[in-house]
Amino acid sequence: LKRIAVLTSGGDAPGMNACIRAILLTAAACNIEVIGFKHGFNGLLEQEYQTLHPQHVDNIIQRGGTILKSARCPALEQADGPARAAASLKELNIDALIVIGGDGSFRGTMAISKHYDGQLIGVPGTIDNDVDGTDHTIGFATAIDTALDAIDKIRDTADAFERIFLVELMGRHSGYISLAAGIAGGAEQIICPEFGPLSPDNLRAIIKPIQHAQLLKGKSSYLIVVAEHSYPGGATALAEALTKAIGIECRACILGHIQRGGSPVGADRILATKLGAYAVEQLLQGATLMMAGEVNGETCLYPLEKTGDGTKQIDPFLVRWQQQIGSY
Ligand code: ATP
Repeated sequence: LKRIAVLTSGGDAPGMNACIRAILLTAAACNIEVIGFKHGFNGLLEQEYQTLHPQHVDNIIQRGGTILKSARCPALEQADGPARAAASLKELNIDALIVIGGDGSFRGTMAISKHYDGQLIGVPGTIDNDVDGTDHTIGFATAIDTALDAIDKIRDTADAFERIFLVELMGRHSGYISLAAGIAGGAEQIICPEFGPLSPDNLRAIIKPIQHAQLLKGKSSYLIVVAEHSYPGGATALAEALTKAIGIECRACILGHIQRGGSPVGADRILATKLGAYAVEQLLQGATLMMAGEVNGETCLYPLEKTGDGTKQIDPFLVRWQQQIGSY
């Protein structure tokens, strides 16, 4: 390997910078040149890039976002997109490409592989944790803490006003952030896609525990964590429906993009460093079309094409426990 490239794609996640740093430092130690494409796959298609040197990654381990910028890239999904991306890699003499992103970015990487002879490797970087082949994705741990900080604050005001609050968290179509932050925030209920579809016609399962809790003395606040895409119209529509159904005002708070920002927590910096370094080491061993992940504390490779299969489960123990205590 003489020259490798890295890019960050899809939703940005805290720890992406720590990962870029680890890739650059590991490659530099092995005399491999690293270029960074800007704005995800757009930079690859447009040949917008910079050669990275150790000074570029000074002081970035603690910074959220990504120095390479991230973006979606509809052009890669056009019929000629993957071939154009591969041609660009060849023209720039890139021996291997490291893609830091989610399973969508890895589908894009697989599409490029049909036209490219060099090595392609993925590193899971998304707050959603919805990538198979790794226990945690880079950014997930920080997103939980960010959500938790908000939940704790909303709890204070909910408590003071004796209100029911619904807090909507990100996660695309998975409930990892909601389950983790809901458990850690002591939420009375957690609603996420894994618990089955929720529609205006089957709200009873949610209403019953609220009414039960009202009967218990001393309960002055009630928090429901709602994963995005769990209810038509989101937490705002759900709050309105609940207000109507139970006659008590329910308020919705949508946390939104706050969850993607912020300085990465220690666990994310360590995971990002480990997986970035491991990706370069595995490229040197000849790995391709693999994702660098971590399972049970051990680094491991997982086929890129299987990362979006959705076989990873949200913690069944916590799911069972949350449902068991749901009405208290
Ligand atoms: P996150 O879920 O955190 O936002 P992600 O990587 O899953 O991250 P996506 O928006 O799904 O984010 O995908 C990122 C980019 O990957 C897309 O904008 C597109 O450029 C590329 N991509 C996704 N699927 C394909 C595909 N089937 N073919 C070609 N490119 C694709």
